[in-house]
Amino acid sequence: MAFSSKEQAQVLAALKYRDVLRPCRECDVEAWAMVDGLVMVYVQETSTQVSSEVIPSVTLICQNCGAVRLHSLLVLGLKKLLHVPTIPVSSDQEPEPVMEYNDDWDEL
Ligand SMILES: [Zn+2]
Repeated sequence: MAFSSKEQAQVLAALKYRDVLRPCRECDVEAWAMVDGLVMVYVQETSTQVSSEVIPSVTLICQNCGAVRLHSLLVLGLKKLLHVPTIPVSSDQEPEPVMEYNDDWDEL
């Protein structure tokens, strides 16, 4: 699901607050584009089984070299953007975020 313009602004504010919008480590050019929506990273337990853990992530792509960066939505303090239901990938267990949510992260 795509971010609203307000959500995009919140993500950018969180990244700026943490001072991570610097030139690309690979090519030293500052040309980031944000993927319009969350990317869910699933944790793999074994070579044939995916864990029920998922890391909801904001994704930036360098428009010069194609390098991809992921930032955990929870670490950025943006759990409120996680309104898309996640799909359990094994058994009937609900996916749990890897990181614990901290109320202090809402204070941006
Ligand atoms: Zn680059």
